[in-house]
Amino acid sequence: MTEEEKEAIETMKRWIEYEKQNKDKINKANELIEIQETVLNLIQKQDKEIEHWKKGFERELEDNRKNTCELLKQDLIIREKDKQIDILKNHIHYKKCKNCGQEFRAKRTDAQYCKKCSTKVNNGNYYKNLSPEQKQKRREQSKLYMRKLRERRKNNV
Ligand SMILES: [Zn+2]
Repeated sequence: MTEEEKEAIETMKRWIEYEKQNKDKINKANELIEIQETVLNLIQKQDKEIEHWKKGFERELEDNRKNTCELLKQDLIIREKDKQIDILKNHIHYKKCKNCGQEFRAKRTDAQYCKKCSTKVNNGNYYKNLSPEQKQKRREQSKLYMRKLRERRKNNV
């Protein structure tokens, strides 16, 4: 309930009190008082119910959060154990990629890059070692390839 709503309820209570004290001056005062009190009780009852459900919902949310944390922890432990088994059984090394920082499985102890980065690094090295003529040829080949690709797309789709 907002502050304004709480204030409105307090004002209504004061009006009911006023009507009770001035029954003789107000037309159909009893009926008016009864209606207002019924509405007021209904509002207050519903407000309590909402609070009750809200608290229950918050508790459930907190429980779910705790369960999720617990599951994540267990998952981490299982994954760590799986890794240990992998290392012992398959003689695998878990290494951090020098390029992207991601962990990867390697058979060799001196592996430095994950599969993706190792292809990239090897291609880069290969390209670096080409002569200027070979580089030019490769550029033209790739341009030709792109042109063919574009044409194929245009004709097909
Ligand atoms: Zn990598």
